[in-house]
Amino acid sequence: MCGIVGYVGKSQARDFLLEGLKRLEYRGYDSAGVAFFNREAFKIARKTGRVANLAASVHANDLDGSMGISHTRWATHGDVTEDNAHPQTSSDGLFTLVHNGVIENFSQIKNFLEEQGYTFSSQTDTESLANLIAYHYAKEPEQNGKNRFFVSVRKALLHVHGTYGIVVMCRDYPGELVGARNGSPLIVGIGDGEFYVASDASAFAGKSQNVVYLNDGEVIHFDSKNFNIKTIADEAVEAVVQKIENRLEDYDLGDFRHYMEKEIFEQPNALQNAMRGRFSDDNSTAKFGGLNIEPHELRQIDRILFCACGTAWHACLVAEYMIEKYARIPVEVEYASEFRYRNAPLDKNTLVVVISQSGETIDTLAALKEAKRKGYRVFAITNAVGSTIAREVHGGVYQHAGPEIGVASTKAFTSQALIAAMLALYLGRIRDMSYSEGAKFVTALKTLPELVNNVLNQSDQILAIAKKYAQYEDFLFLGRQNMFPIALEGALKLKEISYIHAEGYPAAEMKHGPIALISEKCPSLFLATGGEIFSKTLANIQEVKARKGKVIVIATDSCEFPEDLVDDLIRVPDCHDALQPILACIPVQLLSYYIAVERGCDVDKPRNLAKSVTVE
Ligand code: GLU
Repeated sequence: MCGIVGYVGKSQARDFLLEGLKRLEYRGYDSAGVAFFNREAFKIARKTGRVANLAASVHANDLDGSMGISHTRWATHGDVTEDNAHPQTSSDGLFTLVHNGVIENFSQIKNFLEEQGYTFSSQTDTESLANLIAYHYAKEPEQNGKNRFFVSVRKALLHVHGTYGIVVMCRDYPGELVGARNGSPLIVGIGDGEFYVASDASAFAGKSQNVVYLNDGEVIHFDSKNFNIKTIADEAVEAVVQKIENRLEDYDLGDFRHYMEKEIFEQPNALQNAMRGRFSDDNSTAKFGGLNIEPHELRQIDRILFCACGTAWHACLVAEYMIEKYARIPVEVEYASEFRYRNAPLDKNTLVVVISQSGETIDTLAALKEAKRKGYRVFAITNAVGSTIAREVHGGVYQHAGPEIGVASTKAFTSQALIAAMLALYLGRIRDMSYSEGAKFVTALKTLPELVNNVLNQSDQILAIAKKYAQYEDFLFLGRQNMFPIALEGALKLKEISYIHAEGYPAAEMKHGPIALISEKCPSLFLATGGEIFSKTLANIQEVKARKGKVIVIATDSCEFPEDLVDDLIRVPDCHDALQPILACIPVQLLSYYIAVERGCDVDKPRNLAKSVTVE
């Protein structure tokens, strides 16, 4: 959360900083700010609300400079006000900085610094760090050959507990920036006579593909020509420059109104990309280049623990159904935020798999570190090549879904569910799944993009249904077995973007409580696929109808319903069981999206939320 963008180089910083900030707005959008610096005073603008407000003020006041830092905030400490927006400046006016994260010991630092005469004008934790750097700078003796700016930031950070990605400017050092990270991402893009720095590389898409990922506990100093990285403890660090794909066109909205809509319609492609090059030559199993483990070692695994947060946690539940069914390996699913503090007992042959679209989710990162510390092998499924999680794990699978910008995850979820299915296939084939069953599985998977396209083609019908239901304030999402995670995902999608209260349950659980909510004011969406439990789901639908509840059903083509049982029906194609959750999820996403649009909600930037949750 919180987006940071910085620039130093031969051009003026304004356009890059504002453009980069807009691209990082998914990370937080309650307020935004920028500081430019040429030689004399910092030129600072801060505004509550969106980056567009800030941009208007920057242009109106004609602010610019050859160097600058900027920030889009998701408040953790202090209200959403201009005073609390970043950059935060030290009370002696020498330092200004932007920060992503939480300084946990900020009140001790603040008390100490107030005694030393430093003053505070915001409620943020961040301001304590600006003043702490100023304090160390004042104490630091002048010495030839030493960069006092770099040294003071480093020394200040030795006293900080918590998480940070920061970029700092010092009035005594025009043309120089210092950045640091611990727990919140920071990436430096190398240009020709210029450097970019940001929380995520999308900020410099189209400008730089050569990047340096800062690791936890590292501090970087750079001017327009060179950079130098040290650890906070003053050890030299050899920088690794990596090449990444960072294409500007991936961020283009095209004819779509929202990124969420664009990303829903990108799913056939995203799913194709997740499968590309990942089937065996005989088309009977999946193969993955990055697991870094041999089949005979995988055979020793007798339990898998999946860990994630939010939508990715629902993808873990899909994985549980798939892997238990096709590979017969017991799977458990944990919230990463719970696992990290729970000290869960794990067997020695447990494999841990974490899922995170951004690869930066702090709870998931902490869970994986905890599992690693205990000596477990950890895999990740992530969309972000080079992300912190990708770099921390022993092996994993990249989603290759392209950047996901809409705060509500769509294509990332279905691609995670697909990778879960492919993992189930791969693990199944190492164990008891026959060649012919594997071949059928692969054939089915290959049809998935086309089937998803067929469902997307029904968007007009789904829009019409959305219009009918947009004004309801409560919703139930119900599904059994592999449809249960989709019921949870549907409820989450609807509530996060349209602020309608929605709950997901296994359909049979309804009568153990949620049935009390059913009335003509609370519609239910059933996810009904064929198979042996279809008749049970039908009975649950009857129970809702008997209580005057409206019923929307997403069902496979072959499911037959008694007349008048269903108020609105959306069909998805009959398909291999492993594809059903993915196909059924598409109408759920579209329905939530259209309802939110109908209610006039800001779909890509829902209230209180942000993507890539890098604070606890
Ligand atoms: N703790 C800082 C603030 O509240 C930064 C928040 C964040 O990174 O989300 O301003």
